[in-house]
Amino acid sequence: MSFKELGLSEPILKSLEELDHSKPSEIQQQAIPVILAGKNLMAAAQTGTGKTGSFVLPMLEMLIEKAKPYDKNVHALVLTPTRELAAQVRENVHKYGKFTNIKSTVVYGGAKIFPQKSKLQSGASILIATPGRMFDLLSQGMIDVTHLKMLVLDEADHMLDLGFIHDIKKIIGMTPAYKTKFTLFSNLFKNKLKS
Ligand code: AMP
Repeated sequence: MSFKELGLSEPILKSLEELDHSKPSEIQQQAIPVILAGKNLMAAAQTGTGKTGSFVLPMLEMLIEKAKPYDKNVHALVLTPTRELAAQVRENVHKYGKFTNIKSTVVYGGAKIFPQKSKLQSGASILIATPGRMFDLLSQGMIDVTHLKMLVLDEADHMLDLGFIHDIKKIIGMTPAYKTKFTLFSNLFKNKLKS
């Protein structure tokens, strides 16, 4: 199975080639077609398995056609338990999306909110965030999630352990649930992939 056979298009294949990712990892082979088919997904995968690519690659693919420089709406949101993971996901979006014009940004707690607000004002199709800061910015009207197509909960079990459940519920409550696809990654379930 190749990345091309998974349905990824040229700009993304080009970045994978440049990164020397010659074929999809097991979790990528399983998750990418499910997400591209527009289904909800719950998956178990640990860091080091290529799990970030398994949601970032189809996310870029879904947005590639629709990315327009003047569009300031958030189309995909990734929630992560820590700012380190948020930064890591952003880095992946950046490297896999190098040959696309899809804009992304990252916001997290424990850092000044003002610079994050100004980054948001210039627009981002993909937003990576920790739940507390995300809810703060949503409540202040700084982020519009009414056009959200995809919501990823990365390391969902870790987010629950850290007590983010209330923020996550409130964020989900503000998304257009009827058109947003959900992807949940956890370390907890053993080799179970549901769609
Ligand atoms: P992750 O599990 O997402 O943290 O990824 C772990 C590492 O594997 C990262 O350095 C990725 O760049 C790398 N990686 C992800 N997918 C592939 C792949 N298909 N082939 C080779 N390396 C990969």
